Amino acid sequence: MDLSDLRKRLSGRRIFHAYIVTGGTGEKRLRAGELIARAAVCSGAGPAPCGVCRDCVKALRGVHPDIETVRSQRKDRELTVDSMREVRSRAAVVPNEADRSVYIIADADLMNLQAQNAMLKIFEEPPGHAVFVLLAENPLKLIPTVRSRCETVTLPPEPEEEPGCRRLAEEIIKAYTSRDSLGLTRALSPMEKLDRTEVSELIPALRAIAVRAVPEKDLPDFSDTLDEAELMARANVNAGHIAGLLLGRLCDTRKR
Ligand SMILES: [Zn+2]
Repeated sequence: MDLSDLRKRLSGRRIFHAYIVTGGTGEKRLRAGELIARAAVCSGAGPAPCGVCRDCVKALRGVHPDIETVRSQRKDRELTVDSMREVRSRAAVVPNEADRSVYIIADADLMNLQAQNAMLKIFEEPPGHAVFVLLAENPLKLIPTVRSRCETVTLPPEPEEEPGCRRLAEEIIKAYTSRDSLGLTRALSPMEKLDRTEVSELIPALRAIAVRAVPEKDLPDFSDTLDEAELMARANVNAGHIAGLLLGRLCDTRKR
């Protein structure tokens, strides 16, 4: 089931007991989970979520008493059996205002095995009013018996990062690694026309490519140079000056 199937099913007010939302980004998964939650509590007429009923409005404001997002309180983000047991006991209680109560489990793939088994116990005897939405970057970390009890919603993959920026970064690194200072001058010249946002995208792209393309011995200098470029970009120095810094530093490094 993808996002458009999900919308169709939700609008027909067909709500399952448990969902796994995967694909997309963390942010998109959370939004899809919130969409399911709104549809589940919506008390309006017509396709759900209606967006205007008392329940939808509270859900949109993030203050609906029957929608809870469960997150790990631990530094390592692992979801423990204790937090799942708490969810289990809260889910057994009838909802406050809506016909259903919804538990969005953020990073459900960080549930350890014990926690997943606790989740499984809930799924084996689900309270009629409860809906569970498991957000998971990697659903394969969930045990098969949990997966088989959930409707899986797969969000479309995120588009690749801006290709122009990526291509430019590739060109710059190619010239740098081939020790071609004239080529480097040429590769860096389009950078002068970039705006602030584009420069702030180019630097991480350079970093990402450098890790695999720049020889180990040159990496520390290369990385320092990028740090400096990043500081300049944050201080709003124009792209031409930053390109100048890169050219000076990167040619310099080559002579060492
Ligand atoms: Zn509504």
